[in-house]
Amino acid sequence: MDASNKDELPSADSDEVRAMFSNRETREAYRFLLERRNDPPTMAEWIERATAVLGKGNVHSQRRLRDVRDYFDVAAKRRPGDGEWVYQLEGRSQSPVADKSERISPKLQAEVFTVKGRFCQMCGRGPGDKVKLQIDHIVPRSWGGETVLDNLEPLCQEHNNGKKAFFASLDPHSGAMKAAINRGNPWERIGELLKAFAREGRWTPVELIAVVARDTHKGDPLKRLRELRFVLGWNIVAHRAKVEGVTQVTYELRSWEPWPEEGAPAAVSEYERKRKREKGEKNEEGTEE
Ligand SMILES: [Zn+2]
Repeated sequence: MDASNKDELPSADSDEVRAMFSNRETREAYRFLLERRNDPPTMAEWIERATAVLGKGNVHSQRRLRDVRDYFDVAAKRRPGDGEWVYQLEGRSQSPVADKSERISPKLQAEVFTVKGRFCQMCGRGPGDKVKLQIDHIVPRSWGGETVLDNLEPLCQEHNNGKKAFFASLDPHSGAMKAAINRGNPWERIGELLKAFAREGRWTPVELIAVVARDTHKGDPLKRLRELRFVLGWNIVAHRAKVEGVTQVTYELRSWEPWPEEGAPAAVSEYERKRKREKGEKNEEGTEE
């Protein structure tokens, strides 16, 4: 391979690589692979090197070398001549692992694609449009989102980055998000979020309501908002504003009621039953305000 065809890779001492690999042994493994890019080493050679540099070399050293794959493509190849397995650093990984704790097993990734489709959930583009998909945590891990099927979705790189930037801008509210997200039902999750914003004298962006409302069986966050208002008696006002040509919707919580003793889901079910009965009795009259 011609060296000019290779993309530029960061040095093992760069801040970038330090941020990727907090473990020094992994950084040394990367350094070794980078040095030996044109003459890829065997695992035995790496263990020898690890022993020399770090004073130890064992099965963990093997794992450290493989950890480099979290951010870089490292191919295992048969060396021409002696046929030994060697590890060649080929470049940056196209689907880097942002954080080790966010690693999603290949099996789970396949499940996400099977269940949600092999396309970006925001723009619908996919491999057919030459767009690479990434698996995104719908509720970020930093807000208590779990690495489970329900909380994962395919996004294209553009929308994944956009979403990450949007969420990063909301970091000051991560405490509120955490409190809201761990509630057991969408009404309480939305309600607690609105309360957290209201306590700071702020209005809640609709995007965040959609994030906390997430309930695979109940869906529609706006319906939940209506139920908070008409069933549970909360005073919520919607505001629309154009910012740089984009309509932004926020919700202002003016007053709220304590959560019903039987729980919000039961209260809403009871209200629906009652409404159906009344509809039946009144027939065409209608009971909505
Ligand atoms: Zn997209």
